[in-house]
Amino acid sequence: MAKLRKNDTVVVLAGRDRGKTGKILAMLPAGKRALVEGVNFVKKHARRTRDDQQGGIIQKEAPIHVSNLAIFCKGCNRPTKIGIDVLKDGAKTRFCKKCKEVF
Ligand SMILES: [Zn+2]
Repeated sequence: MAKLRKNDTVVVLAGRDRGKTGKILAMLPAGKRALVEGVNFVKKHARRTRDDQQGGIIQKEAPIHVSNLAIFCKGCNRPTKIGIDVLKDGAKTRFCKKCKEVF
């Protein structure tokens, strides 16, 4: 089970955007990278297309490796580690390892 999911609030631990907080916009299929709102912006040169007559340079989030991210716990008000519990019926829940808040 992937520890991070879409719409989680995460903190960037490493790289250019270290310390930034954002929401996960999407997880990439492999589950190793995530697109995070406002993080890891790159400039892309967009070609003029039928839909976009403007073209030019646009800024877009680039995926960041999940090992550089930590979930932000509202209970602790800081980045934290996720624990995973397996319930009797096989369902899994994620919780904060420090304050036990369930995500
Ligand atoms: Zn917590």
